[in-house]
Amino acid sequence: MKSDNIDRKRATRNSVYRYLYNCKDFCSRQTLSNELGLSLPTVYQNLSELMELGLVCTTDEKLSTGGRRVEGLSIVSDAHIAIGVSISADSIRISEVDLRLSELAYKKVTFHRPDDPNGYAKIIAKEVEKFIEEFKVDRRRLLGVGVALPGVVSKDGFKLEYAPTLGLRDVSLDAFKEECPYPIHLENDANCGGGAEWFVRDSKRNLAYLSLEQGIGGAVFVGGTPYYGDNHRSGEFGHICVEPGGLKCSCGRQGCLEAYCSTRRISSDLGITEEEFTKELNSGNVEYMLLWENYLRHLAIGINNIRMVLDCDVVLGGYLSEFIENSMPRLKEYLAVLNPFEPKADYIHLSRHRKHTIPMGAALHFIIKFLDEL
Ligand SMILES: [Zn+2]
Repeated sequence: MKSDNIDRKRATRNSVYRYLYNCKDFCSRQTLSNELGLSLPTVYQNLSELMELGLVCTTDEKLSTGGRRVEGLSIVSDAHIAIGVSISADSIRISEVDLRLSELAYKKVTFHRPDDPNGYAKIIAKEVEKFIEEFKVDRRRLLGVGVALPGVVSKDGFKLEYAPTLGLRDVSLDAFKEECPYPIHLENDANCGGGAEWFVRDSKRNLAYLSLEQGIGGAVFVGGTPYYGDNHRSGEFGHICVEPGGLKCSCGRQGCLEAYCSTRRISSDLGITEEEFTKELNSGNVEYMLLWENYLRHLAIGINNIRMVLDCDVVLGGYLSEFIENSMPRLKEYLAVLNPFEPKADYIHLSRHRKHTIPMGAALHFIIKFLDEL
């Protein structure tokens, strides 16, 4: 009976906090009382608890219809923060985000590919610590460090099962925990990116997220929730065949979308960075223009297959989404030719946070956990 009471109290406090968290307009104590069906004393009691925890504050006053001054309320969005890390074979991106998933700091670092399987865990721990020092991140407010990995992570999040671009197989979460002193969570990178995109979108329509990184992956959200599939491998869009018998893929097969649309094709394969490729492309380098057309054509085949199967918005995210903006009209032309139903291809969008989406999405795990457990 006693624990029922505690649960009920916690649920009420959670509903007050969540209302303020989601509120985009002016919100007063009276608004909370009306909208949540709570008595004013209950609202006051819960607010005083939340203010004591530093989670809610008062904001500007506004005149009520009766001409009385009314105090506004808001959550303190940086009361807690989370760090997200996205790792590839030779670089790491780190984001610090607040409770509303707004980015407070960001950094990208390159490194030499480590030889031993635990090398990545060591690099993550070292770079996170440097990031914390450099950006003066307050460790007391840090909820945890989310790590986005380009591979299949087990359903329980305890093991990285396979990451071909990192050359890793069966690495346990413990290897990361041993190196990093903060709560840590592993997640597939495309699920992170898709999660972040879905979280910040106003619309909760169905969504397929296509992650364009060194590895190509994806995530599917149906009816507002992630669809993982029977084997936790839904959205492995990188291995859709876009050219039978074509280029060799990291998975060992031929003609996969990843073989044609990985960032490698326009950077490491050419011995340059994506930025240098874009610069050359814009200055009229014919060889690069042909390569880019080939890239876009295969990307369109992959996107069209996703659209045909799922019939939902397709969002392009990951590192390369930063560089694709200028080519969206061309990409839509290719898509229009392939699709007999949709001549405009207006179901395709670029992710809101571009190359920051994945590290931000890695941090999202701890924000959702905080919201659920408050
Ligand atoms: Zn493949």
